[in-house]
Parts: sequence; C-alpha cells; structure tokens
Amino acid sequence: MLNIVIFGAPGSGKGTQSQRMVDKYGLNHISTGDVLRAEIRNGTELGQTAKGYIDQGQLIPDELMIDILASVLDGFRDSKGVIFDGFPRTIAQAEALKKMLAERGQEVSVMIDLDVPEEELMSRLIRRGIDSGRADDNEETIRKRLAVYHSQTAPLIGWFKDENKYHHIEGMGSMEEISAKIVEAIDRL
Ligand code: AMP
Repeated sequence: MLNIVIFGAPGSGKGTQSQRMVDKYGLNHISTGDVLRAEIRNGTELGQTAKGYIDQGQLIPDELMIDILASVLDGFRDSKGVIFDGFPRTIAQAEALKKMLAERGQEVSVMIDLDVPEEELMSRLIRRGIDSGRADDNEETIRKRLAVYHSQTAPLIGWFKDENKYHHIEGMGSMEEISAKIVEAIDRL
C-alpha cells in the first residue's frame, strides 16, 4: 500500500501533481477541498457549513474534517493506496490520520512537501482565480489562507520529520520536472 500525503501551501501544485500520481500508480485520491466544493455545489448542510469557513480562508474544524475523511477512506477498500491532498492540515488531523491508518494496519508511506516561494504562490493563485473563478482565489482570501498555512499547517513539517516520513521537493520548475522528482521519491520507498 502506498499512502502518500501531498503537502504544501495553497498554490503549490498539490492537485496537479496528485492527478499525475493517480494516473501513474493507480491510487485513490482524496482532495478534501474538492470534497467540500462538491458538497457546496450539491447544496448540502455540510456544504453550507463549509462555505462559511472557505470563503473566509479559514480551516473547517478538525472534528468535522476528520469525520469526512474517515467516510471517504471507508469507501476505498481493496485500494492500492491513497493520495491525501489537502489533508492533514493541522497536527490534530495528522494524528487522526495516523490512528485511522493504524486501525487498518497501514501507515503513511511518505509526506511530499512541495516547497514554493510565497510570491510565486500569490501569482499562481491570482491567475487560477481568474481562470477558474474559484471564489476563495481572490487576493484578500489568498492572504488569509497563506497566513493560516503558516500558523496551522506548516508545523506539520516538523511533525512528519519526527515520524521519518518527510520528503522535501523544490516546487519551482515545470510540471514534468516536479513529477519526475516525486516519482523518484516514491520509487525509492
Ligand atoms: P484546497 O482546495 O485544499 O485549497 O481547500 C480549500 C479550502 O477548503 C481551504 O482553504 C479550507 O477552508 C478547506 N479545507 C480543505 N481541506 C481542509 C482540511 N484538511 N482541513 C480544514 N479545512 C480544509
């Protein structure tokens, strides 16, 4: 089983690279952001709750997020492994993931940190907002999301280092160059 956490700030390329790894390794993919956006589109109660946080650039509360992740994971029986994209985003989520996987006799194989400079993140996200119309890709919300990343999510770098799962990748360069570096890290496992 390959359980890969693809990690990085908003705009670091997690979604794009996850898709490439799904195609290459035949893994299941959980993007918690995509799950929440689907709930919003479907007008569910969960979607309504999530929208309030997403529009403010804030994280959805851990308990809610952990329940969502558990139910998606339960749908993946007999899978070759999973790419976790956008989860965990807090230490509490990382601990919950570790426990959830342990209950299934599994563990995270590697955490891939896509490291991209702040100015580049800003310009990528503004461009994405124009192209895709994603409501939280506007300058004010992007700044809040980056601040939330630094205060609540970046501490996971130390957490995964302590777990001996951390793998740093320079996230600047072409999509293909970055994919090649990720593949190299995975194939070494
Ligand atoms: P993303 O598509 O991963 O950038 O996520 C978009 C937004 O969804 C984030 O800014 C959060 O508001 C929310 N979100 C996604 N994943 C999580 C998570 N693991 N924990 C809390 N909030 C999340």
